[in-house]
Amino acid sequence: MILRLDRLMCELPRAESPSPNSAAAVQELLGGKFGEMSTLMNYTFQSFNMRGRSKIRPFYDLVANIAAEEFAHIELVAYTVNLLLTGTTERDEDPTSTPLKAAVDFRNTAHYIATGQQAQCADSHGRPWTGDNVFSSGNLKLDLLHNFFLECGARANKIRVYEMVDDPVARAMVGFLLVRGGVHIVAYAKALEKLSGVPVGKLLPIPDIKNDRFPEAAAHEAKGLHRILYRFSPDDYRELGAIWSGEHPEDGGQLRVVDGPPEGGEVPDLDEEPQLTAPMGPDSGEIDPEMLNHYARRIFGKDLQTDEE
Ligand code: MN
Ligand code: MN
Repeated sequence: MILRLDRLMCELPRAESPSPNSAAAVQELLGGKFGEMSTLMNYTFQSFNMRGRSKIRPFYDLVANIAAEEFAHIELVAYTVNLLLTGTTERDEDPTSTPLKAAVDFRNTAHYIATGQQAQCADSHGRPWTGDNVFSSGNLKLDLLHNFFLECGARANKIRVYEMVDDPVARAMVGFLLVRGGVHIVAYAKALEKLSGVPVGKLLPIPDIKNDRFPEAAAHEAKGLHRILYRFSPDDYRELGAIWSGEHPEDGGQLRVVDGPPEGGEVPDLDEEPQLTAPMGPDSGEIDPEMLNHYARRIFGKDLQTDEE
């Protein structure tokens, strides 16, 4: 089971210059082959499928626990897309004014046709994420090698999106996820070292550019965030420390497991978009209390209580 917290894993600022094309680029980090949907689902399925786990408990704990963190990463990328899309169209409720006219020239028109200016479970081309991106071989060494590769590929994509999008919200998100993805790269490298004795950490960084070149990532690393593995469970995954211990391969600092998630930041509460996407539609105005009571009687057998009662 997964417990859910209505918090983001880090603070996200509002977008300074909302941009549909920036949002389209950021989608790759959500639903691309190397995006957060892929890391979440790879580690989730590998953990479901891991047989003989009592003999390899620390590896099971590691993969299952990192899966839980990846949910929070999807959430950060999705809110970044939403924040970048907020304010990209004219707010006009009259359809004959063609209020979405500009969207025909945007990189991803589906943000405006198929969704209400929202994050999609899709990549930067608007292609839906697919289970074809999940690798779960049943062989621990092979799965860990895959995960190490997946995290390095994810890091490459994040760096390129950073080089494309300069809005502070995108940079805050990418900076944070470069650090957290870096933790996962080191974790899978350490796991492979435990299994094989091969010093995989000597390959790092991949790609060959350190996180401290990105100011938003450097700020988190200055606080030691790259040496912390969060234990995303009230009581379980206690054997993480068998793998997440010793020195960080890049700076030699001491690795440590922290119990529980970070405090993180507030979840943005964004205004409705008035075209088709306001929750009740542009013509509905106030919610009709008679309609609500009609359904309340059908579902609960009585009217809804109002504040006056
Ligand atoms: Mn991630
Ligand atoms: Mn990761």
